[in-house]
Amino acid sequence: MVGPMMNQRKRIVMIAHDNRKLDMLEWARDHYEVLRHHELHATGTTGGIIAEDLGLDVHRFLSGPLGGDQQVGAALAEGRLDVVIFFWDPLEPQPHDVGVKALLRIAVVHNCPIACNRATADFLLASPLINEDYRPAASPGDLAPEERHISDIGVAAR
Ligand code: PGA
Repeated sequence: MVGPMMNQRKRIVMIAHDNRKLDMLEWARDHYEVLRHHELHATGTTGGIIAEDLGLDVHRFLSGPLGGDQQVGAALAEGRLDVVIFFWDPLEPQPHDVGVKALLRIAVVHNCPIACNRATADFLLASPLINEDYRPAASPGDLAPEERHISDIGVAAR
């Protein structure tokens, strides 16, 4: 079983909480040469900062706390985005924490590459797969419940 195809030109979405926006901007500057070949999306404020600083076209969803995280989650679920760069703040509570958790969950459900810190985001953009067609393995969201049983791998549950 395989998941949906990703084209060479990836649809990359960037989201950064306020205390991580500088991190995101520095990361985007570092990877300008790669990012400019892809289709860029972001939550409202993050997208505005990146578009203005780098002069790149960035499609902007709503701001995260106003529903942008949920729009991103819906787009992931519908196969309209490929790669998530999500610099969430691990040190401060967020008013939209439930939306943050829902987005992290849906990215895993749909087997989306997701980076939550700069090191992982560096590795993602350095991967040859970022510029190639790629068909991921089936995700939990692609499998019917009867296809997800541990018995399918021939190991007894403990
Ligand atoms: P923002 O949203 O880019 O509009 O700030 C990000 C967030 O806080 O979830």
